[in-house]
Amino acid sequence: MYLIFRCDCGRATYAKEGVVQKKCVCGKNLKVAERRIITKTEEAKNAAEIVQELQEEKYGGALFTTADKL
Ligand SMILES: [Zn+2]
Repeated sequence: MYLIFRCDCGRATYAKEGVVQKKCVCGKNLKVAERRIITKTEEAKNAAEIVQELQEEKYGGALFTTADKL
């Protein structure tokens, strides 16, 4: 079972059930037991897809910009 949750920075991430800590890409160490779990899924593949959907929901297309705009 994989647990899907959000970091305080707003990024969605997932951790295998039983994992105590998960490091977000922002650098914060998340205690999985203290996070509000958004949903659960059996497969890691599904967890990754759900996380991606949650990211798109939050950021829309704004996260992805072309190199000339950086
Ligand atoms: Zn974070």
